[in-house]
Amino acid sequence: MSPMKVPLLDLRAQYQTIRQEVMAAVERVFEGQTFILGPEVERFEAAVAEYCQAKHAIGCASGSDALLLALMAFGVGAGDEVITVPYTFFATGGAVARLGARPVYVDIALDDFNLDPELIERAITPRTKAIIPVHLYGQCAEMNPILEVARRHHLPVIEDAAQAIGAEYQGRRAGTMGEVGCFSFFPSKNLGAAGDAGLLTTEDDELAERLRLLRVHGGQPKYYHRVVGINSRLDALQAAVLNVKLKYLDQWTEARRRNAARYNALFAEAGLEEVITPVAHPDRRHIYHQYTIRCAQRDELMAHLRREGVGTEIYYPVPLHLQECFAYLGYHPGALPASEQAARESLSLPVYPELTAEMQGYVVERIAGFYQS
Ligand SMILES: *Cc1c(COP(=O)(O)O)cnc(C)c1O
Repeated sequence: MSPMKVPLLDLRAQYQTIRQEVMAAVERVFEGQTFILGPEVERFEAAVAEYCQAKHAIGCASGSDALLLALMAFGVGAGDEVITVPYTFFATGGAVARLGARPVYVDIALDDFNLDPELIERAITPRTKAIIPVHLYGQCAEMNPILEVARRHHLPVIEDAAQAIGAEYQGRRAGTMGEVGCFSFFPSKNLGAAGDAGLLTTEDDELAERLRLLRVHGGQPKYYHRVVGINSRLDALQAAVLNVKLKYLDQWTEARRRNAARYNALFAEAGLEEVITPVAHPDRRHIYHQYTIRCAQRDELMAHLRREGVGTEIYYPVPLHLQECFAYLGYHPGALPASEQAARESLSLPVYPELTAEMQGYVVERIAGFYQS
């Protein structure tokens, strides 16, 4: 029996549908010979600002750099503490540590895998300089209580919206609720470039100015430096590709949401007690960057699905507080139990826009087969 092939993600399928437009945009950049910042980037910044309902959008080289620039803009450095979650991509904590500051990891709520607002206040100290909630898998964190505690302690909120472009919380778009939003256009993100790319959003004119300065080594005018920045610009080629793809983002997001609803129905029909499907809160627009289940015998299930031709991934197998590079922070297993449980039980299934109903039926059938045998 030859199994059906269901990859975790199929970027080629998406590219086929926009190939000519992408190639024309790339050609336009070469004809213009402006490769860093410039009109393509400005056009993209304006378009994304509108899409995210943000006043300012500032392109940079990656989502990781967006986090770094945001922290730099608030002057975070040695001796400071920044509160964030351990159950996220490495960059969230890495950006804090790179500036010599200390990541203070606060546990998640298991239902939506996001920062548990109840746990923030006890982690705040006189050294705390910022809070970074992550909108994991494309669903916003519970922002109202997070913003409330931040305001009470006069702390800026930096939203890690790398997985959440177009996601909403009570009608507000990801990246516009805190002081600054950080986005990634890594190729596998919902809006993916042809390489690394990132962006920041903010409502604050002065902060936008500072971010624009920091991304060009702090030079203003050119070659005159009042502050030390970094080199982190958005390439015109990436902006040109993103300008093409942004037009399709809502259509792709709706396809992801439809696929998630279809999985929910298929799992309900199969009546599998071993599988917990993702919770989507009614006051949020989940954009399903990932469709992540929690399940018994996760590693065995993953191996079984691989044999059956189904691609899955574990985001994330080791929470940041237990990473080797953060041993100096002194966390031990058991310190942040929800994050550790999520790391043991979560499995992300294919949910990309071009996934077919037939493929999804196959995936759920093979999962059911695993638990029935
Ligand atoms: C992808 C991602 C980043 C980093 O973005 P890059 O563009 O890969 O540097 C940061 N945080 C989260 C939650 C991410 O998923």
